[in-house]
Amino acid sequence: MSAGQGDRPALAGGTPVRSAFLPFFRPALGAEEERAVVEVLRSGWLTTGPRTLAFEGAFARLAQVRHAVGVSSCTAGLHLLLRAFGVGPGDEVVTSPITFPATANAILAAGATPVFADVVPGWLTLDPTAVKTAITQRTRAIVAVHLAGWPCEMDALGALAAAAGIPLIEDAAHALGASYRGRPAGALADAASFSFYATKNLTTGEGGMVTTDRGEIVPRLRIERLHGIDVDASQRSDRGYRHWEAVAMGFKYNLTDFEAALGLVQLERLPALLAERRRLDARYRERLSRLAAFEPLGGPGAAQSAAHLFPILVQPGALHIDRDELLGALLAENVGVGVHFRALPLHRFFQTSVPTPPEAVPVALSSSARVLSIPLFPGMSDADQDDVVEALARIAGYYAA
Ligand SMILES: *Cc1c(COP(=O)(O)O)cnc(C)c1O
Repeated sequence: MSAGQGDRPALAGGTPVRSAFLPFFRPALGAEEERAVVEVLRSGWLTTGPRTLAFEGAFARLAQVRHAVGVSSCTAGLHLLLRAFGVGPGDEVVTSPITFPATANAILAAGATPVFADVVPGWLTLDPTAVKTAITQRTRAIVAVHLAGWPCEMDALGALAAAAGIPLIEDAAHALGASYRGRPAGALADAASFSFYATKNLTTGEGGMVTTDRGEIVPRLRIERLHGIDVDASQRSDRGYRHWEAVAMGFKYNLTDFEAALGLVQLERLPALLAERRRLDARYRERLSRLAAFEPLGGPGAAQSAAHLFPILVQPGALHIDRDELLGALLAENVGVGVHFRALPLHRFFQTSVPTPPEAVPVALSSSARVLSIPLFPGMSDADQDDVVEALARIAGYYAA
């Protein structure tokens, strides 16, 4: 890069790379999704019903598992799974500090204590060595968070869980489309929970799906997701009547047919959406390889990423501005940004509710201060992407340490 006037970052008084703001994310919803939702409206069956059953079946086939249970969110799915595996008060659950609060909140909601284990440098997923150290007599489960589309090191984590006799659960919120040794996310552990929140690889606005081959937990999942009654909403019909019975304490965690209808359309489109995500991901990697200041997040060699997000780590000592100033500099260029994630032990709530000694999670803490995500979504153009790279190049050149 030349250091001419035109290359001065917008934050330092230059002209922004883009005149129009590039959002961090824009959902890919079209006419087919609209039609599917209108059909549900006109069908007279709004909540969990035939479309939910169809979506569960299609999702189970895609994830190569025997069972899929539609739920209202990934968080709800994690909560139900922990309960179904018998996790409760007095128990510990080992998980990643680099995640959304939902992962730890589901553990707290089950009455258990989250234990944060450190992450692998450059991948920011659970480090099996750290997990091994974190496991105690009280550990009753491991929740592995696949980050940004990259699966965790599942062979090693699975071996640790098996040795301890505890379930391994995937937080697969970022991982729809990912695979590890040729097996899809959702089929890499005892069970998994996916998110269909607005920004995820497949969206139904809100929603989630639990996948598992462990058939023995499925009845409890189905009962607890809907009020603890013995008739699943998908089996209710508008003809006839039979008594339903409350058989357990339950929640209101069901998926609606609106959401399932959107999900069925999005599942059809998923291969094309994933291909576009992966094309953009590879293009970023190729172009950013020329900028030594930034290291794209990676994962195990045996894995294929779902290319959900594109986090980059600022190399230590590369810039004389910090990550938060870098976020500001990108926004000044009209480029949207995100952070995935600030380590949970740094958040006010978790400082008091889950006190974690800094020396237990050094990689998480140092990476947390250096990580940021740049836009990646189907529908962004190559020119949009070139603008992001150009903005990073200007900033890296001007603020080089
Ligand atoms: C989005 C997200 C969740 C929560 O998903 P919901 O469907 O909104 O409950 C959980 N874990 C991770 C890593 C996430 O990014």
